Amino acid sequence: MRKRRRSGFGHGEPRYHLAFNPYPSQRFTKCPHCRANTGQRKLPLLIHIDQAQMVALNYTNRYCKHCDLLIAHKDEVESLLTDLFASAAPELVGNDYLIFATMEKNAWRDNMHSPRAPMEMLDHIHDFKSYTELRMTRGGWYPEGVEPPEWTPPASERWVKEK
Ligand SMILES: [Zn+2]
Repeated sequence: MRKRRRSGFGHGEPRYHLAFNPYPSQRFTKCPHCRANTGQRKLPLLIHIDQAQMVALNYTNRYCKHCDLLIAHKDEVESLLTDLFASAAPELVGNDYLIFATMEKNAWRDNMHSPRAPMEMLDHIHDFKSYTELRMTRGGWYPEGVEPPEWTPPASERWVKEK
C-alpha cells in the first residue's frame, strides 16, 4: 500500500470522527448528528497531556456507525486519567490535554506485554478524521427572535490542580 505524506501523528489512515462531550448529564445514547441509536466501541485513545506525557487509555466510547462517530465523555476520561496519575505523577493532574488519535487494539495489547519501538507503533496509530467538542443550547421556550443561549459545560470535578 502506498503511503501518503500527512501532517498528522499516526502513520495509519485516519479513522473515526471524534466528538468530545463536556456535559456529564448527557450520555448520547442517540447520535447528536443523525439521531440513530449509538452503540459502544472500546478502543485505546491516545491522549497528550501537557507538557510531555502521552498515554493510551483503553476507553469505552459511544459509537454511531452511520456517522463513524466516537463520542468520549469528558467526566469519564478525566476520572480515568486522574486514577492513572494521582499517585504516579500528581503534578500532571489538571493539565491541559488533547485526545488526538486511536491505537489499534492488538498493537496496544502487544505493546503492554513487550514494549515496541515508537516508530513501529506509529503504523498502528490513526489520527481522527475530525475532532469536535460538543456544544448544546439550553432547552426551553424563548421569545421570538431570541436564540437559545449556549449551555455552558460544568467545570471539571476531579481533573483539577490541587490548591
Ligand atoms: Zn450518527
